[in-house]
Formats: sequence, structure tokens, C-alpha cells
Amino acid sequence: MKKIVVIGAGFSGLAAATTLASAGHDVTLLEKNSTPGGRARQFKSEGFTFDMGPSWYWMPEVFDQYFDKFGKSVSDYYELIRLDPSYTVCFGKDDYVGIPASFKELLTLFESLEMGAADKLEKFLDEAAYKYKVGMEEYVWKPSLSITEFFDLKVIKSAFKLQMFSSISKQIRSLFKNPKIIQLLEFPVLFLGATPQDTPALYSLMNYADLKLGTWYPKGGMFKIIEGMVDLASEKGVKFKYDHEVTAINIQKGEVRSVETAEVQIECDYVVAGADYHHIEQKVISKEYRQYDESYWDNRKMAPSSLLFYLGLDANIPEIHHHTLFFDTDFDVHAKEIYKDPQWPSNPLFYMCVPSVTDNSISPEGCENVFLLMPLAPGIQDTPELREKYFDILLNRIKQQCDIDIRKNIVYKRSYCIDDFKNDYNAYKGNAYGLANTLDQTAILKPRMKNKKISNLYFAGQLTVPGPGVPPSIISGQMVANEVIKSIMKHGK
Ligand SMILES: Cc1cc2nc3c(=O)[nH]c(=O)nc-3n(C[C@H](O)[C@H](O)[C@H](O)COP(=O)(O)OP(=O)(O)OC[C@H]3O[C@@H](n4cnc5c(N)ncnc54)[C@H](O)[C@@H]3O)c2cc1C
Repeated sequence: MKKIVVIGAGFSGLAAATTLASAGHDVTLLEKNSTPGGRARQFKSEGFTFDMGPSWYWMPEVFDQYFDKFGKSVSDYYELIRLDPSYTVCFGKDDYVGIPASFKELLTLFESLEMGAADKLEKFLDEAAYKYKVGMEEYVWKPSLSITEFFDLKVIKSAFKLQMFSSISKQIRSLFKNPKIIQLLEFPVLFLGATPQDTPALYSLMNYADLKLGTWYPKGGMFKIIEGMVDLASEKGVKFKYDHEVTAINIQKGEVRSVETAEVQIECDYVVAGADYHHIEQKVISKEYRQYDESYWDNRKMAPSSLLFYLGLDANIPEIHHHTLFFDTDFDVHAKEIYKDPQWPSNPLFYMCVPSVTDNSISPEGCENVFLLMPLAPGIQDTPELREKYFDILLNRIKQQCDIDIRKNIVYKRSYCIDDFKNDYNAYKGNAYGLANTLDQTAILKPRMKNKKISNLYFAGQLTVPGPGVPPSIISGQMVANEVIKSIMKHGK
């Protein structure tokens, strides 16, 4: 039995800690905040229960497989509801498209937007299904520690078939001409943190996840997943220490010996850092053991940060759906303001989530629980005045496009932005979703899961493989734990 410290109680840290404890190791999880979940934390105020980060439950089989691995099932921890429509897209005033859960209805919708689009969609999704299968069964589980992992002929062949080397934007535009269809099909890759032009066509697997596997919601909120994972971790013997921010990792002769917080020093055989990679490398370990310098990090393409608002309303909003995307402005301009020329957006796209439409347990009776998200360039200035300015812009847009004036019904309001991501999670440049999944930041081109200079320090989470998002973070934690277990079996350390 080895003594292992895991840093960070986000999805990746929880998955790593549980996998290691389940293999019989003595695992302590150190978390700087007073509650688990990391970017997926929850808070309650004035009768409302808010999920702080993720709100889209996609790729349900990743969650099923996770709990199943430990002899449990998702239904032991939470009840899943499939949303229908999966989500609604607002293209302008009174111009909405709801994405039906039924595939047959989806085909009818596509055909109504562009003649011949239903057939093309079927073919596009057949190919996406193949990519999903190979991508999720093979690629996503590669620790990417060596290029040789990809030398297998089958893998090389499939890389071409998967269209690893051309962009998803090109693929979609070669098939469809209707601008609404293009936007609908380009939307899911935004979860990967980059523009469709910069995202490999492999990621049309996200369209399969979206349009075929569906959008789900755990009753009680996304935090139910975290609660389930914490329960499971505790059952396996993981010792949780909240309000314990790791300040130093003590290394001797290329080996971690102990981990320090203001309160404790814990000797250990292995460390898995599920906290932001940049923070651990640049702020926690000493300089001679860093693998990447500040200019390396500065040259990475980070996924966006976000301006968020958590709102409680004292009335129900008629005819609103659970997820609404406001794609009523030019995405190319907003994308430029995130990636190429970082600044607050001139005319932003944004997203509104009203989970109380599906779940009356998260707000008082007759009230609505609202979450607004506007993607934002990481690292730019964040002030209360800017937050307020954009709050007005978003509320005006909701009023203008949907004839809904929520301003007068707001009884609770909290904003969250770049400085909060930095303060709460030690997030590099205040990023929300980690490192973007661009072609030159994929697999072995991402920050490595294992430190090259320290034999027993590993990294998990959204800044390493496989990438940002809840399912990838859960996979990352399990994959890193498997690497640690392999190392223990091989070297006894
Ligand atoms: C607003 C928002 C919306 C999102 N929406 C979705 C969505 O709808 N669907 C989806 O799949 N994904 C979504 N994501 C992405 C998803 O939430 C993340 O990819 C995932 O939660 C990251 O998990 P993680 O374990 O890598 O990191 P984190 O959740 O950040 O966990 C890292 C933990 O480490 C802790 N920590 C940091 N420094 C230290 C230290 N020195 N000592 C101890 N602990 C430390 C932090 O407090 C944190 O708890 C969203 C993210 C955000 C922010």
C-alpha cells in the first residue's frame, strides 16, 4: 500500500483518488476550498440552489462506466432526465430553433432548413458515430506520454479516417450551406475551447454526442454528480481535507517526499495534481523541476473564461426552455475578441440556463433559477463596472429577442468572472475550461500527464489529456491513476 496525495477535489481529482483508493492505496485528497467540485461547485442562497459551472450533461455512458467500474450505477446517486428539446437556439427576434430529442423530428427540422440536409445529416452522423466509437474507446484513453502509443497501424489508419488533420468547420461547410445548420453543427465544439476553424474534424464526434446521445440533467443539479463521486470516494477510504491549499511539494533527488499546506505536511510516495497544471508547476514546485516556463504557458491557446450571473427570480418565465443559446450576433467577431485580439466583446453571444424549468427542487415555489454565461478572453481586465455593463447588455438582449423582461423579478444576483476563477481555483489567466483542444494542442502536444523530472508526480484535469469538459476530466483522473498503479507494479514505487 502506497501513500498518495491527490490535490484538488474537482472531477479529475475525485476520479483519480477513488481509483487509487479502490486499488488499495492510502489516499488523502487536499482541496483549497471548503467544498468539493472545483469548477462544478454548488452554492445555495435565499432558497435557490445554483450549480456554479457545468450545466450540460453529455456523453452519459462516461458517467455510467465510471460508477460501474466500482460496482455502482448512476441511479444509485442521482436520477437522470433527458431534456426535450435538448436545447433551443435563438437566431434573432422570434426566430428560434429547438433541437428535438427525437432523431426523426431532427431530420424533419434539418430538411425544413435546407433541401437534402436530412440525408446529409444522417451520413454526417454515421461518420461521427464511428469517430465517437474510436475516439472514446481508443484515443481518449491514451496517456500520450510517448508518440509510440500512436504507432499502431490501426491507430494511424484511423487517424486519417477520423480526419485528425482538417478542421471541423471545413467539413461542415462542405456539406451544408444553410447558416443556421452550420451554426447548430459548429456549436458543440465550443465545449472544446477553440473555434471550429481551429478544431480537428475528429471532433464531429461531439455532434454525435449532442444529436444522437442527447442532453441530460441530473435531478437536483449537476452537483449531484459531485456528491455521488464524493460518497463513492469516501466509501473507498479517501480522506478529504478541505480548506487545505497546497503551498509546496517537497522534492529530493527527483522524487516527491511530502506535500505541504499551511496546516499539515504529509509524507507520500506519489502525488497526483488535479489542480490547474500551470499553478502547480509555476507556484508550487521549485524552479529546477518545472518542465514548462512562463513563455510556454503564455503561448498556449487557453479555452475561454466566462462572465457568469446566478440569478433568482420571484416569478416563473413563461415558455422558456432549460437551455437557450443566443446565437443572434456574429460569432466570428466574438471569436476574434476571445482568441485573436483579446478584449471584452462588442456584441456577445451568450447562453441562458433555467434548470428550474425541469426541476422545482432548486428554487422556491413559483420562482426561477437562472444562469447566464458569456464566453470571455482569459487574462483580460475584470472590474465590477464591466460586469454590470454586460449584465445590462445580456438582459436587454433577452428582452429584445424573447420579450421577457426579467430585471424586475430579480431577487438574488451574484456575478462570477476572471478574478473569481483566479482566486477560487488558481486558474491560469482566470480560464474557465482549461486548455483548448486545437490540432497543435492535442494528445502528446498537451502538457504531459507525468512530470519528466520528478519520478512520482502526475497531473490530471482539464489542462492535460484528454482535455476540457466533465467527461474528459473524469477520464483524465482515471487514466492518471492507472499510470500510477502501473508504476507501482513496475517499480514498487
Ligand atoms: C462556467 C463553466 C461551465 C462549464 N460547462 C460545462 C458543461 O456544461 N459541460 C461540461 O462537460 N463541462 C463544462 N465545463 C467544464 C468542466 O466543468 C471542467 O472541465 C471540469 O469541471 C474540470 O475539472 P478539473 O478536475 O480538471 O478541475 P477543477 O474543477 O478546477 O478542480 C481543480 C480543484 O483544485 C483545487 N485547487 C487549486 N489549487 C489548489 C491548491 N494549491 N491546493 C489544493 N487544491 C487546489 C481547486 O479549488 C479545484 O477544486 C464548464 C466549466 C465552467 C467553469
